[in-house]
Amino acid sequence: MVRKNAINKYKLPVPKDLLQRIDRTSSPAHLGKLRNAIDFIVDNETPVLAADDGIIIFVNDSSNIGGANPVYWGHTNFIVIMHSNGEYSRYDHLSYNSSKVKVGQHVIAGEEIAKVGMTGYTYLPHLHFQVFVVIGINMWTDFKTLKV
Ligand SMILES: [Zn+2]
Repeated sequence: MVRKNAINKYKLPVPKDLLQRIDRTSSPAHLGKLRNAIDFIVDNETPVLAADDGIIIFVNDSSNIGGANPVYWGHTNFIVIMHSNGEYSRYDHLSYNSSKVKVGQHVIAGEEIAKVGMTGYTYLPHLHFQVFVVIGINMWTDFKTLKV
């Protein structure tokens, strides 16, 4: 039994039977502070699951554009969950208008929060997942990803 909220222990953020493969290294975006991000290769509209209990602190699902071009970099839909162990999990490339949650909402591990879609800079349908801690005053820039 894994202790609840143990550091670096998270559940799969997509249903196991729908997961095609895990890719930790091939994305050109996984450099520097994103080096511990993980891509879960799945079909579009696959449910995205909360990787642990927590509070939703950010939701954007208003983008409906994306593709294999860096011009789409800022157009990813994503959700961030804050966990009680001080870590955050982030879920990127969500389908337009697919969020099931709102900021401030409590979620439990395994709960569906959205669906996968081709938004932002992405070559193929996948969920970009990262766990991070904030190391400065700006959580969007001052963070580092953790190995999970
Ligand atoms: Zn990625």
